[in-house]
Amino acid sequence: DLDQNLARLSELLERYREPILNRIGGELVPARDGAVFETHSPTDETLIATVAKSGKADVDAAARAAKKAFPDWRDMGGAERKKLLHAIADAIVARAEDIALLESWDTGQPIRFMAKAALRGAENFRFFADRAPAARDGQMLPSPTLMNVTTRVPIGPVGIITPWNTPFMLSTWKIAPALAAGCTVVHKPAEFSPVTAALLVEIAEEAGLPPGVWNMVQGMGEDAGRALTEHPDIKAIAFVGESKTGSAIMAQGAASLKRVHFELGGKNPVIVFDDADLDRALDAAIFMIYSLNGERCTSSSRLLVQDTIADDFETRLAERVGRIKVGHPLDPSTEVGPLIHKVHADKVLGYMGAAQAEGAVIAAGGARHGDTGHFVQPTLFTRASNDMAIAQEEIFGPVLTCIRFSTEDEALSMANDVAYGLTGYVWTNDLTRAMRVTERLEAGMIWVNSENVRHLPTPFGGVKASGIGRDGGDWSFEFYMEQKHIGFAT
Ligand code: NAD
Repeated sequence: DLDQNLARLSELLERYREPILNRIGGELVPARDGAVFETHSPTDETLIATVAKSGKADVDAAARAAKKAFPDWRDMGGAERKKLLHAIADAIVARAEDIALLESWDTGQPIRFMAKAALRGAENFRFFADRAPAARDGQMLPSPTLMNVTTRVPIGPVGIITPWNTPFMLSTWKIAPALAAGCTVVHKPAEFSPVTAALLVEIAEEAGLPPGVWNMVQGMGEDAGRALTEHPDIKAIAFVGESKTGSAIMAQGAASLKRVHFELGGKNPVIVFDDADLDRALDAAIFMIYSLNGERCTSSSRLLVQDTIADDFETRLAERVGRIKVGHPLDPSTEVGPLIHKVHADKVLGYMGAAQAEGAVIAAGGARHGDTGHFVQPTLFTRASNDMAIAQEEIFGPVLTCIRFSTEDEALSMANDVAYGLTGYVWTNDLTRAMRVTERLEAGMIWVNSENVRHLPTPFGGVKASGIGRDGGDWSFEFYMEQKHIGFAT
């Protein structure tokens, strides 16, 4: 319960009296110039730790360590890499409860979700561990004069830049395939959530990962992040974050011809037709926007509901949203915790008045929750139109925008009339309609009559402003590896 969680947390926080350092070549090191920044709890704004604030020289040291470690890691047999990655997964499982507590405290995400997210981090390692032995597999394509062999080789040291939403799980999702492919890594975690990233690399090295294979530099995006994207020894950048940061990284990486993989923002529609199983649609619509504080790239932040059922659906929705339990993130009964940072909570709250001025109605929530911490009430807007800011911009909080439609064509044109294209959710019991709509919906991932259920072998990624490239299955290896062709004269 909450008291037990708080007691364990205060034990864990003891070690953060010391600053969180970078990990370069297996060593814990401060920033070269001794600079630090602070990370605070979004729940009560207390200081959690000071953290190394890295600059160009620190990133350079990390990139050089990754370059030095690359040949041995590349040449290690896949079976041995598999064993090491499974050992990391085992170590994550052993520390999952502590990881979840620290992540909840550092980010404000409710413990009920973070406990699962930590275990999912272990799953990510296991999934790619099992694929490591086959990562280099290719084909023979004989011609009359040549025995043509295709194979894959790891691209080299890579940079991984991650955001603050479910940072532990997301970091494992990018780092595990890079390591399985034979790449070495420099990880730059988000400055709003530095705690579990430091724990993750520590766990990996304790589990036996050789020094320098995985380096971690903390710091700001504009300094440490930028230096990583510009570094000539870093061959590729896997980035998860905002669309505008993706654009900046593409420009920064241009001079050194970086390969990039972007998982960016979303403004994902959930389309509910009047023939759907409305009880299930209601549950899923609520779960997909109000879980994880709505700080989730795949959240269903736009509800497009058919006008024939809209009155009833919105009334039931408002009643349910009003009952969502907002509270301390370490309380297992909490459904929505504080948002990551004051700046972010203020941004989310800024939409409330603006939307009303544009003519939307607040059917639930709409204000700050409590006096301490960055809590925002779960909010439901109704009577919105698709051209409003709340229908076009990624709010990234517990805020759902409800828009009515009358025909399938209208639903589709509103669903697609947005800059983003990450996920879509379609609720209908008409199979041919489901096929028509999914075919025309502009999104990288679509679920029909389901919330977002991730199956790791399937491709994950978005279209339009939501990203470039796919993760999952073999797609991750395509990014972290180079195809190589060799023709032997016969
Ligand atoms: P952000 O873009 O502000 O920051 C992400 C990371 O990029 C941080 O580590 C930051 O320090 C770094 N960064 C910032 N500027 C940089 C620069 N110029 N060069 C290099 N690095 C730089 O994003 P955020 O606010 O931390 O995260 C929220 C965003 O992430 C949302 O838009 C969300 O939708 C998106 N996201 C997408 C997915 C997905 O899979 N599509 C998953 C999770 C989050």
